[in-house]
Amino acid sequence: MTVRGPLQLTLALFKPDVTRVPYVLKAIQQRIIEEDFLVVRHREVRLLRDRTEKFYAEHRGKFFYNRLVTFMASGPTQALILAHEDAIKRWRLLMGPTKVFKTKYEAPDTIRGLYGLTDTRNSTHGSDAPETAAKEIGFFFPEFNIENWYKTEEPKFREGLVKLDEDNFIHKLL
Ligand code: ADP
Ligand code: MG
Repeated sequence: MTVRGPLQLTLALFKPDVTRVPYVLKAIQQRIIEEDFLVVRHREVRLLRDRTEKFYAEHRGKFFYNRLVTFMASGPTQALILAHEDAIKRWRLLMGPTKVFKTKYEAPDTIRGLYGLTDTRNSTHGSDAPETAAKEIGFFFPEFNIENWYKTEEPKFREGLVKLDEDNFIHKLL
């Protein structure tokens, strides 16, 4: 069983370009497990346009904003709370850089390098800092209490007292 240091949480999304292609979804899930991430929560959501606008409010006014929020409202999204040591940085490394056309050459073995379709339809999202992770976890999992999780579940996740439920792609406490 892996011995782990303190776990950090991050918010990951499988964007609509991923959720509509089952083998890509599966391959990304496999990669997440291979890289020793723990899946703390997982749910599928269908974002309406006003929710996607809210989630991406920091990008309002940019040239790709309309394209981005339209795309994100075009199909189901899966939201996940991932745990790992240094999860925020690790997940962003595994995703690869934002811009797919460049990433295909510069980081071909990343999720975006392998599966991204365009600079907008780039497969996954990941929080970029602890504050945004907390905010984004609250956006998709309003009932999830981070402080409580650290008290009650983190020690068990850290010790590996969990099992992957493959059908639902979530780690359950033993
Ligand atoms: P990241 O998702 O890597 O944190 P940003 O926060 O900068 O990247 O942008 C949010 C999302 O907006 C990106 O994941 C991508 O879907 C889209 N996007 C960002 N930059 C561009 C761009 N130059 N052209 C098209 N879409 C973009
Ligand atoms: Mg971002």
